[in-house]
Amino acid sequence: MAIERKWQAKWEETGAYRFDWADSKRPVFSVDTPPPYPSGDFHMGNVLNWSYFDFLARYKRMRGFNVYFPQGWDCHGLGIEVQVEKENNIKKREMPPDKFRKLCEQLVEKYIAVMKEGVVHLGCSVDWSTEYRTMNPDYWRRTQLSFILLYKKGFMYQGTHPVNWCPRCETAIADAEVNYEEQEGTLHYVRFPLENSEEHLMIATTRPELIPACVAVGINPSDSRFAEYIGRKITVPTTGQSVSIIPDETVEPEFGTGVVMICSYGDKADVKTILSHKLPVRIILTENGRINENGGKYTGLTIAEAKKAIVEDLEKEGLLEKTEKLKQEIGLCDRCDSRVEILELKQWFMKTRILTDKVEETANRVVWFPDYMKIRLIDWARSLDWDWVISRQRVFATPIPIWYCKNCGEVILAEESWVPIDPKIEKPRTDKCPKCGGTDFTPEIDVFDTWMDSSISCAVHAGWPDREDWRRLFPADVHPSGIDIIRTWAYYLMVRHLALFDETPYKSCLINGMVLGADGRKMSKSLKNYVAAPEVLNKVGSDAARQWAAAGGATGSDIPFRWPDVEYGWRFLIKLWNASRFVSELLKDFKPSKEKEYVLQPLDRWILSKAEKLTKRVTEAFDSCQFNIAVEETRNFAWHVFCDYYIEAVKDRLYKPEHYGEEKRKAAQYTLYAVLCRILQLLAPIMPHVTEEIYQTMYAEEQGWKSINLSPWPTSDEKRIDEEAEKCGDLIAAVINEIRREKSERHLPLNTQIKKLTVYAGEKDLAKMVLEGKEDIAGTCKVAYFEIILRKGEGREVKPYDKVRFVAEY
Ligand SMILES: [Zn+2]
Ligand SMILES: [Zn+2]
Repeated sequence: MAIERKWQAKWEETGAYRFDWADSKRPVFSVDTPPPYPSGDFHMGNVLNWSYFDFLARYKRMRGFNVYFPQGWDCHGLGIEVQVEKENNIKKREMPPDKFRKLCEQLVEKYIAVMKEGVVHLGCSVDWSTEYRTMNPDYWRRTQLSFILLYKKGFMYQGTHPVNWCPRCETAIADAEVNYEEQEGTLHYVRFPLENSEEHLMIATTRPELIPACVAVGINPSDSRFAEYIGRKITVPTTGQSVSIIPDETVEPEFGTGVVMICSYGDKADVKTILSHKLPVRIILTENGRINENGGKYTGLTIAEAKKAIVEDLEKEGLLEKTEKLKQEIGLCDRCDSRVEILELKQWFMKTRILTDKVEETANRVVWFPDYMKIRLIDWARSLDWDWVISRQRVFATPIPIWYCKNCGEVILAEESWVPIDPKIEKPRTDKCPKCGGTDFTPEIDVFDTWMDSSISCAVHAGWPDREDWRRLFPADVHPSGIDIIRTWAYYLMVRHLALFDETPYKSCLINGMVLGADGRKMSKSLKNYVAAPEVLNKVGSDAARQWAAAGGATGSDIPFRWPDVEYGWRFLIKLWNASRFVSELLKDFKPSKEKEYVLQPLDRWILSKAEKLTKRVTEAFDSCQFNIAVEETRNFAWHVFCDYYIEAVKDRLYKPEHYGEEKRKAAQYTLYAVLCRILQLLAPIMPHVTEEIYQTMYAEEQGWKSINLSPWPTSDEKRIDEEAEKCGDLIAAVINEIRREKSERHLPLNTQIKKLTVYAGEKDLAKMVLEGKEDIAGTCKVAYFEIILRKGEGREVKPYDKVRFVAEY
């Protein structure tokens, strides 16, 4: 673990992973690192995200790219405001905005420190010279500038429109911030009296508190039970307004009683119906979730109080027929889990739906890892009913650079050169309203949705708008995203950049799944299956945790966290470390020269050929972001082929040059040297610390690279692939394995001498191959006398070669 800290410090000190702006030769590879929202907790989900970005960044660096791996922090947001209110036991409306903002900034800095420590501890090859914070005025400038440009292009508008509203947070929220959850509710059967009649219609509702907001009653025109009532008037209980009974095809006759009340607004279906039938709007909720003056005698009550009072009144008046329990989906605020209401308010919007066709077309051109994830983006874009509401009623956020003329209401948009600017503090830099000549202005007090900051990251990372050469890094080569934020991050990036530059922001999208607890359920503190990342990193180190991230599952799938998996990674590290030290001892007197100068033996050619094929498979795996395949293949090869088998098989050759000859010893040394180096390079993107340590001790001086991650990725050499040698080596390996298995079944130590070994080979080719490996078999298995007989014989079968058997005499 000390080794990990040592290299982390050294990489930063030497600037090993800085992007080289001056280099015009190497191709660039830019990672659109999503600036995380500082939550104050570096969790296993973060370990998974950053491991993915870093595997790719390190791999591309070795492939010869000038890699750009920036890191920023997406500071603003409701979550921070809620936390500051909680920690200080205050309400933001009750203190000066500046003071509240300061508290938010302090909390964010504290949270960033925790997360940054996590990223560094994980060994990510971030270029820290790029670090930025979206709460800094210099970042406001970019967010505000992009707004001004989009306003001028006609993408931004102000409108009164129903919006999702969190009454606890007192702000509008976007569709993407509403989570749907199934909860148990109560269905109330309420009698609505028909006008000029003794009759009534029964309406079933889970939200009797919205009865005062009822603006119509809907009936499906095909429902013969009620068709005759369409067009008549009905009295709304509690507040007594008279509303029409209208035909509405969206009413499901099977649900409830088949008669529904239409309120402004119970849900999105109400919004559609009210709009299409041009019904009046009767809002009964205030922004902090109380009943307003439209609620008659219920004015001033909270939603919950109003519900109770209304149900009591209905009962008293004999209008409540019965109640029933019911499971229903309700929308909750992503930040505080309060029930989301729909209010009609003046807000700023970005026209996003006009881009939907373009989003789909662009998403189809982007490369997705894995491919099927693009459907999530396309389906989301297609499902949106409303444009993106970009204004929020909060404090800790980027200001909207707008003022209004007090006299005529004209919108005064900031000039591009004025930003960053806070209209609440500064006046517009103009003396009069261009429309009426008025000289008094009021600032826009609403602020931007956080996603307005973070959804320009691709352009900002590239250096927009300051660097002339920002197009070099734009579009980003990869945008990494969690599966849960495709609908926000991947989507907002797409619409924002399409609107601004008419171009895709990213060429590929790398998706990671969620981290599950060991029990297969979503990891969460309340389920008691939560494991904190620092606990893991402190216990087994970063290289073991990164192996877990790589090997846990296919890219994009959910990955369970289990201690045995990281412990396996830890054991592999120890194995690799010990093997390297052993090899290093054996190579003390070795100076490598060209491969063709060595007299390679069948087993040497066998493992060199296998290492070549492995390189090909691992390269393909990295190219398609299949990290699980890359790590599993290399680990298996390193552990079982190289350590358990090859090293054991050549020990004798290395220890007894007098018996085998110096040439064969040198060949084994060369093979150890070359194959271990290959293993280290293939593992370097996933296990950067241990591979760096071994590389620096054994190879760096000879090869001249200051970090293994700057050494060139091995290209697989077709000429080294030797099918004959592999066939031969496989057979030799099988013979050795079978002899060892026999020794262990007989409870004999592995170094027990075999007085006489007789191998029966039923085919000429097989006999020839055994003969070629005779020395290695005899050396490894301590055989005193060895004979090969060319015929089918008795004895123990060497699986899977049914024509090869042996008899060993001890
Ligand atoms: Zn909320
Ligand atoms: Zn004016």
